Amino acid sequence: MQTDPDCVFCRIVAGAIPAARVFENDRVLAFLDIGPLAEGHLLVIPREHYARLEQMPPDLAGDLARCLPDLARAVLRVTGAPGYNLLQNNDRTAGQVVGHVHFHIIPRHDGDGLGYRWNASSYPPGRAEELQRRIRDALATSPA
Ligand code: AMP
Repeated sequence: MQTDPDCVFCRIVAGAIPAARVFENDRVLAFLDIGPLAEGHLLVIPREHYARLEQMPPDLAGDLARCLPDLARAVLRVTGAPGYNLLQNNDRTAGQVVGHVHFHIIPRHDGDGLGYRWNASSYPPGRAEELQRRIRDALATSPA
């Protein structure tokens, strides 16, 4: 299993630094975020070190995703939050600070003031079709 001695989440996996663990199995660990955006804010990580989601083997990504519904349900029940955001950042341009794949489960309440800019735009004529074709081609030529 690959680990990175300089990675804070690998150090949590190894037990070298403490974390408020709420769930673990042989491939996945979930714990409270140390800087919560809301009470109950969880991080869900693979034990093995991968910096970014697209670098993960699909079966490990599946094992990680499989844990999310139960964890989300538990957080909703305990916090009483009616909703939550699932957030997964890749690259510092996307807000990733810790270079070890993690899903945030962030409880949401009415009027909590959390949010982000959602600067929706639109495609000029033909551009969506071009992107559709190119992404389909990329999928057809990259190993899944
Ligand atoms: P991201 O910006 O998606 O990389 O998020 C990294 C998250 O990791 C932040 O929300 C931090 O609060 C959280 N974090 C960093 N160090 C720790 C730690 N030792 N224990 C728990 N959460 C941490």
